[in-house]
Amino acid sequence: MIPPVFDYHSPRSVADAIKLLGQLGPDAKLLAGGHSLLPMMKLRFAQPTHLIDLNRITELRGISEEGNTVCIGAMTVESDLITSKLLQAKVPLLPEAAKMIADPQVRNRGTIGGDIAHGDPGNDHPALSIALDAVFVLEGPNGKRQVQADGFFQGTYMTDMAEDEILLQIRVPAFAPKTGWAYEKLKRKTGDWATAAAAVVLRLDGGVVSHARIALTNLASTALRAVDAEAALLGKPLTDATIADAAAKAMAICDPAEDLRGDRDYKTAMAGQMVKRALSRAAALCR
Ligand SMILES: Cc1cc2nc3c(=O)[nH]c(=O)nc-3n(C[C@H](O)[C@H](O)[C@H](O)COP(=O)(O)OP(=O)(O)OC[C@H]3O[C@@H](n4cnc5c(N)ncnc54)[C@H](O)[C@@H]3O)c2cc1C
Repeated sequence: MIPPVFDYHSPRSVADAIKLLGQLGPDAKLLAGGHSLLPMMKLRFAQPTHLIDLNRITELRGISEEGNTVCIGAMTVESDLITSKLLQAKVPLLPEAAKMIADPQVRNRGTIGGDIAHGDPGNDHPALSIALDAVFVLEGPNGKRQVQADGFFQGTYMTDMAEDEILLQIRVPAFAPKTGWAYEKLKRKTGDWATAAAAVVLRLDGGVVSHARIALTNLASTALRAVDAEAALLGKPLTDATIADAAAKAMAICDPAEDLRGDRDYKTAMAGQMVKRALSRAAALCR
C-alpha cells in the first residue's frame, strides 16, 4: 500500500523542528521510526501533507545519567535500550521489556519517544513509564515543560502533548538497591501487541511492601495505573492472599476492547494473571 503524497522536511535541530511545526500547522506530523505513523498513513487513518523527520537531530538520541536519573533521548531506538549497559545496571526493567516489543526490524527503527507520543493503548512504553515514575520533557514554541508519565496518557491516541510540541527526553529514576521489577506480557505470537500485560516495580522493607507501582497495557483505552492494587499491598507482606487481592483490584479497573486477541472477560482474567506473575517475579528480586 502506498501512503498519500506529502512534503518531506529534515531539520537538524530541535529549534528548527519546532519552527517548522509552527509554520506548517496541524497538517504536519513528526516522523520518528515510522512504524506506527506510516502504517496509519497507508491505511489513510492519517493524511499529513508534511512530514518532519526527527532522525537527523542527533541531540535527541542517546542514554545518559544525571545524578540519580537516567535520561533517554526520545529518538533512542528499542534495540539501543536493550543493549544499554547503563539501563541494564540502573533500570533493568526497560531493556528487559523492550525485548518483548515487536520484532528486531521494528526495534531497530522504532523509538521510545514515538511509542509514547503515539498514545496507542497497545504500546508497551506507556505502562512501563507509569510504573517507572518517568517524567517526560516536552518542548514547544513557549519553551520546555516536564510532565509525569502518570496522567500523560488521556485516551486512545490522545496525550497531554500539544500538536506543536516535541517529546525530547524520558527521565527515569534509577532503581534503589533491592528494587524488584517485572513486565509480564501475554501475546499470541512473537511480534504481537499485548493481549494483556502488567509492569511492576516493588520494594520491601522489613518484609512488608514499602513501594509498589503496577501499570497495565492494552486493558482500556489508555495505559492504566492500578492505584487501588498498589495501595492494597502497602505495609503488607507479599503472600498468595495479598497478591490475589492486588490482582483482583487491578482487574476491577480493566475495560478492554473485544478484538481478535480475546473478549473482555478473557482479557480481564489475563490481566489478573499478568499482575500475579509480575508481582511474584518482582518479589523474588527484592530480597
Ligand atoms: C509489526 C509491528 C509490531 C509492533 N509491536 C509492538 C509492540 O508489541 N509493542 C509496542 O509498544 N509497539 C509495537 N509496535 C509499534 C512500534 O513500537 C512503533 O515503533 C512505535 O509505536 C512508534 O514509534 P516510532 O518511532 O516508529 O514512531 P512513528 O511511527 O514515527 O510516530 C508515531 C507517532 O508519534 C509521533 N512522534 C514520534 N516521535 C515524536 C516525538 N519525539 N515527539 C512528538 N511526537 C512524536 C509521530 O508524529 C506519530 O504521530 C509494533 C509495530 C509494528 C509495525
